Amino acid sequence: MSTTHPQTYPHPDYEAAHQQTYERAPRHPLAPIPLPPGVRQFDFDLAISDFISIVGVESVFVEDGLSDYIDPYDVHEDDPSQRKVPSAAVCPNSTEQLSSVLTVANKFKIPLWHFSRGKNLGYGGPAPRVNGSVALDLHKLDKIIEVNDEYHYAVVEPGVTFIQLYEYCFEHKKKVWPSTPSLGWGSVIGNTVDRGMGFGMNYAHHQCVAGIEVMLPDGDVIRTGQWGITASPSAFLSKFTFGPSLEGLFFQSNLGIVTKMSIWLTPQPQAYMCCSFSMPLFTDLEVMVDVFGEMKRNGTVQSCVWFTSLIETLCIMGRRQDYWKGEGPVPDWRLEELRKETGFGHWYARWGLYGPKRIVEAQFEEIKSVLARRAPTGTIAGNLYANHDDDGRLDATTVPDQDGQMFVGIPSLWSLPLINWPIPKEKKDGKAAHGDYAPVIPSNGKLLMEWMEVSKLICEANGVELMADFFMHERHVVLMNMFTWDQTDKGQKENMEKLYYGLYEEAKKRGYGMYRGHVNHMDLIANLNDFNNHAYNRFVEKIKDAIDPNGILGPGKQGIWPNRFRHLRETQEKKFN
Ligand SMILES: Cc1cc2nc3c(=O)[nH]c(=O)nc-3n(C[C@H](O)[C@H](O)[C@H](O)COP(=O)(O)OP(=O)(O)OC[C@H]3O[C@@H](n4cnc5c(N)ncnc54)[C@H](O)[C@@H]3O)c2cc1C
Repeated sequence: MSTTHPQTYPHPDYEAAHQQTYERAPRHPLAPIPLPPGVRQFDFDLAISDFISIVGVESVFVEDGLSDYIDPYDVHEDDPSQRKVPSAAVCPNSTEQLSSVLTVANKFKIPLWHFSRGKNLGYGGPAPRVNGSVALDLHKLDKIIEVNDEYHYAVVEPGVTFIQLYEYCFEHKKKVWPSTPSLGWGSVIGNTVDRGMGFGMNYAHHQCVAGIEVMLPDGDVIRTGQWGITASPSAFLSKFTFGPSLEGLFFQSNLGIVTKMSIWLTPQPQAYMCCSFSMPLFTDLEVMVDVFGEMKRNGTVQSCVWFTSLIETLCIMGRRQDYWKGEGPVPDWRLEELRKETGFGHWYARWGLYGPKRIVEAQFEEIKSVLARRAPTGTIAGNLYANHDDDGRLDATTVPDQDGQMFVGIPSLWSLPLINWPIPKEKKDGKAAHGDYAPVIPSNGKLLMEWMEVSKLICEANGVELMADFFMHERHVVLMNMFTWDQTDKGQKENMEKLYYGLYEEAKKRGYGMYRGHVNHMDLIANLNDFNNHAYNRFVEKIKDAIDPNGILGPGKQGIWPNRFRHLRETQEKKFN
């Protein structure tokens, strides 16, 4: 058994960022390490020795080796009764090993917490919902099975990161632009099954999935859609299924482990235009949302439109102290001063246009004229990059960083600095952490404006500014109310809890559900599905009990509890008392 965590990234800058994220996390000793609930020490020890015989001693972690299997941003790290810590970690490197691990877990009734890269930071990272679960780390299943540039898709295993897929496409001159989130160190599968998002044409990752392969808790393996037919030529091309579509059952789910996934990629375009539109006033958001919403729905803008607030623009470039010397959040008057000093808008919408050059130019002209009519006080910018080679395709690396990166699918660690916002540079022992509240809201200017106003008050009451961004889809937006804090400051941690519950209460009043959630809040969020006495949750739990009778896989994930652990469900009332 290993008591030290190994290096997992071949890229020195990614590994350094990982180490930096975790370097001070074990400062509160992990001990006492909990046992899985309901499992005797004797059985646990037998299970560990079986895991070792399957994956090898170097791929089972205990004690200090678990240092990187916790939530580095845990607000409860001082409180062993609430902190989420695994009892051990196991890293299979093949589906055969994975199946054997599941057999052992079933035999000894060991709950597992599965993840691909564990970079779900802000949502718990690799930390389990149930304390003492064994971390099932899939990063060693890291094969790129196929990148197809005739139909523009990839098929990957769980450990494949965005940077790995991008580099593979680059090295093999594949005529595709894979999508990437703002951090390239996460896995394609982990991000996609958690319904993560990128920034280009194929930004809604889970909507770009055709066939997937899933290992069920009993080790059985299924393939979905056309991939259910052996040797189907449409396995990764079509979402059509003869019968119910099953992919969705395995997104944000504890019903199975996705072992292979297809994901559609953007064909390498002939031209790309980097576009932005900004408006000066806080209240300008209303018109921006309505105009862009219409253009998303009528197809004028086909890619992601990403909106950011002024604070979010600033926090990538510096810390709060660089802009505001006083106590508490940056006040409105100072924000207005900063806007004028920097020349930034209060709101930015950013998007890319992709395709043949003439079409991109025509789209931009249309967008310009719509905005000039409907939002005349705004400022539009568009920088065109077009191919001049014979093959008629644009090389993403020729687009300068400030106009490209995540919009042209080049992964980086671009957004990581934002979490340092609250830490004064002189506070050498400060530790940056981040979380978000992420409601799903109709794409409607008035409703968005109302949410910004109410969430701004809640943020300020808890000592932070409104730091918001959102991804616009055709009919809704996925909003991130971001918050960052210094983990060494007890008061700030308490405020972040209050802030979260304050936003939750407001969202609940408005009927807004959540796009994604932290392991600490999964029951709270699942409880919002209240129609017909929580019929949605009851239905999923019926499936859970049928396919995972021992309740071994991800108990409590997304508020879905197997019968065996259902007593651990936290009610909302319990949380608030
Ligand atoms: C500063 C900052 C910026 C961010 N920007 C973005 C962004 O632009 N877009 C975005 O989407 N996210 C963003 N995130 C959130 C997060 O970092 C990414 O979504 C990241 O890709 C998730 O980590 P991962 O891919 O390693 O997933 P993991 O942590 O491995 O998994 C994520 C979830 O999926 C489940 N899962 C993982 N693998 C499997 C599997 N094989 N089968 C079944 N279930 C599985 C896990 O149980 C977990 O719940 C950001 C976070 C931070 C801190």
